[in-house]
Amino acid sequence: MRTQVVIIGAGPAGLLLGRLLDLSGIDNVLLERQTREHVLSRIRAGILEQTTVDLLKSAEAGDRVAREGIPHHTLQLAFDYQSVAIELSRHTGGKVVTAYGQTEVTRDLCDAREAAGGQAIYQADAVELFDFDTDRPYVTYRRDGIDYRIDCDLIAGCDGYHGASRAAVPEAAITTYEKLYPFGWLGVLADTVPVANEVVYANTERGFALCSMRSMTRSRYYIQCPVDDRVENWSDEAFWDELRRRLPPAMAEALETGPSLEKSIAPLRSFVAEPMCFGRLLLAGDAAHVVPPTGAKGLNLAVSDIYYLHRAMRAFFADHDIPALPHYSKIALDRVWKTERFSWWLTNLTHRFSDDRFEQKMKEAELAYVTTSEVGRQLVAENYVGLPL
Ligand SMILES: Cc1cc2nc3c(=O)[nH]c(=O)nc-3n(C[C@H](O)[C@H](O)[C@H](O)COP(=O)(O)OP(=O)(O)OC[C@H]3O[C@@H](n4cnc5c(N)ncnc54)[C@H](O)[C@@H]3O)c2cc1C
Repeated sequence: MRTQVVIIGAGPAGLLLGRLLDLSGIDNVLLERQTREHVLSRIRAGILEQTTVDLLKSAEAGDRVAREGIPHHTLQLAFDYQSVAIELSRHTGGKVVTAYGQTEVTRDLCDAREAAGGQAIYQADAVELFDFDTDRPYVTYRRDGIDYRIDCDLIAGCDGYHGASRAAVPEAAITTYEKLYPFGWLGVLADTVPVANEVVYANTERGFALCSMRSMTRSRYYIQCPVDDRVENWSDEAFWDELRRRLPPAMAEALETGPSLEKSIAPLRSFVAEPMCFGRLLLAGDAAHVVPPTGAKGLNLAVSDIYYLHRAMRAFFADHDIPALPHYSKIALDRVWKTERFSWWLTNLTHRFSDDRFEQKMKEAELAYVTTSEVGRQLVAENYVGLPL
C-alpha cells in the first residue's frame, strides 16, 4: 500500500491530523494498536482551550462541542480554607475554556473521519518505522497474523508516550528532559451535580484536590495521593471524606457524593523530547512531551502541535517546502516549553511535596499574592486559557 502520510496513533493528535489532512486533500492512513471501542472508552482530559475548540471546528468535528460544551468564565484557586475566583475573560480579552471530555473529542473526530470515508486500521500490532532519514520512509505492522507494509512520504508519530515512533529514533539524535513527581492523582468520576460551575484547584496541608465537571450532572474529582498508592485502598466513602477535608468548608458542605463510575490513579510527569522532527518522521502530542494534568494542558498541547504540523505538511506537499518540517519542530517546541513551565509552576504551587510547614506557608503566601494582584491574576488567566498559537 502507498499513501502520503502514515499517522501512527488514533488519540486526539492522530485523529485531528487525519481530519485536517483529509480536508486539505492529503492522502493518509491511520494505524492504531487498540480497538476502536478501547480508544473511545478512555477517560482522560476534560478542559478545552479556545484554540482547541476552533481547531475542532476547522476539522468539521466541532458541532457537538459548540452545542454541549460548557464554557467556564472563571477558575477558582482555593487555599487556606477560602476560594478565590479568577475571571478568565476579563484578563484575556474575552477568552474562556470549555468543559468537554476527551472521550467526546475522540468520538467526534472518529465519527467525522468515518463519515468522510477516511481509512483507519485498528488492532495494528508490531508497528515499526523504517528509513525516515531518507525520502522513502515506510511503516510495517501485523494484523490478524498477516504482515503489511505502507510506503509513504511522511510519518506522523502520534502514538503517545509509550508508542513506537519516538522509540524508533536513534538515541544519539534525541535529547529528553524529564521530571517525575513523588505523587499521583486519584480520580473519581460520578453522576453527581458538580460542586462548582468551574474548575477548583485546592492547596491544603493534606495535599492537593481538584473539582471539575464533565456535564451539569457528571463530576470529575481528584485528590493527590502517594505515587505508589492503589485504587483498592480507596473506597468511595474514603475518597469523598478526604476530598471534603481538602475543600473550603462551604464547598465541602455543598459537595454531592455518589457511587464512582470510574476510579483510577495517574502518575504525574513532565517530559519533553527534542527535536520533534527526524527527517521524514514528525512527532506530535504525548509522543514528544507530557505535562502533569495540573492546568489541563496535555490534550490542548497535542492539538496545538497538530495545528503547526498540518501547516508544515501542507507546505511540504504543496510547495516541496522541505525546511517546513524542521521548522515545525522549532515553533511547536517554543509553545511546548512555555506550557510545560505553566503546568510545572501550578503543580509546585498547589501540591504538597513534603512535611515542611515553611514550604506550605510559602505556597499559601504565593497563592494569596497571585490571587490578589492584577498581574498575578492575569498571569494565571492567560496561561490557563492557552497561549496564542
Ligand atoms: C490517565 C490519564 C489522565 C489524563 N488526564 C488529563 C487531564 O485531566 N487533563 C489533560 O489536559 N490531560 C490529561 N491527560 C493527558 C491527555 O490525555 C493527553 O495529553 C492526550 O491524550 C494526548 O493525546 P495524543 O493523541 O498525543 O496521545 P494519546 O491520547 O496517548 O494517543 C496515542 C494513541 O496511540 C496509540 N498507540 C500507542 N502505541 C502505539 C503503537 N505502537 N502502534 C499504534 N498505535 C499506538 C494509543 O493506543 C493511543 O490511541 C491524561 C492522560 C492520562 C494517561
